[in-house]
Amino acid sequence: MKLRIDIVTLFPEAIRPYLAASILGKAQERGLVFIKVHNLRSFSQDRYRTVDDYPFGGGPGMVLKPEPLVRAVRFISEYTQSQPLVIVTSPQGELFTQSIARELAAKNHLLILCGRYQGIDERVIEITGAREISIGDYVLSGGELPALVIVEAVARLIPGVLGDEESLRYDSFSEWVFGPPQYTRPRVFCGLAVPEVLLSGNHALIEKWRKEKALEKARKVRPDLFQHPALHPPCERRKGVV
Ligand code: SAM
Repeated sequence: MKLRIDIVTLFPEAIRPYLAASILGKAQERGLVFIKVHNLRSFSQDRYRTVDDYPFGGGPGMVLKPEPLVRAVRFISEYTQSQPLVIVTSPQGELFTQSIARELAAKNHLLILCGRYQGIDERVIEITGAREISIGDYVLSGGELPALVIVEAVARLIPGVLGDEESLRYDSFSEWVFGPPQYTRPRVFCGLAVPEVLLSGNHALIEKWRKEKALEKARKVRPDLFQHPALHPPCERRKGVV
């Protein structure tokens, strides 16, 4: 069944152009993924379409009110006759990784709630059973970029979305922790020549070299991936390399 993704945001105009472009746009045109963006304000029922309010306990900024968010989840679930996996974008969520992307790509329906201001009323997470996901240990002003990050990482794993499925093999966090170093023409650029092995035509040798180089760089740049393979379980551990 085709993956459906609903995104609820206060700023649909910040999201729609990106979704319409390039691989994501083509994936939707080809019916491989269905993505719908909803304006949170349309789920507010008061005459001013209020979606935020002051935080209880004081402090700066505003908090997204629970009613429109919960109403959005209920409406979309009823309308689609499905029980989406609800995702709340949050710097306090579990860290988004390629293995979570794989997990999400196997679902039928994702519903992403984008936070803003000081975040969303905490009760929304409990009521909707949402999974909180962070795209990194830094703070953005809203959940729109995190939503796009999640959607793109997930969509490119859906069979048929990438022109060449083989390219997934050479992606980082796939087979060799990192993808291998890549070169294209010209053969020599600024005095630097392309590694000879890549011109050898010997596919077994090229594969061996690529794997070695990928692992060498990953060990140097991201030793944490080897110390905590549970964070990125698919790659080397499964193959008994680490
Ligand atoms: N006060 C919140 C905190 O300290 O955890 C931060 C709120 S942030 C300014 C506003 C919204 O941006 C969040 O509700 C979330 O939706 C989104 N956001 C910011 N950084 C994020 C991150 N690293 N990953 C996912 N979402 C993020």
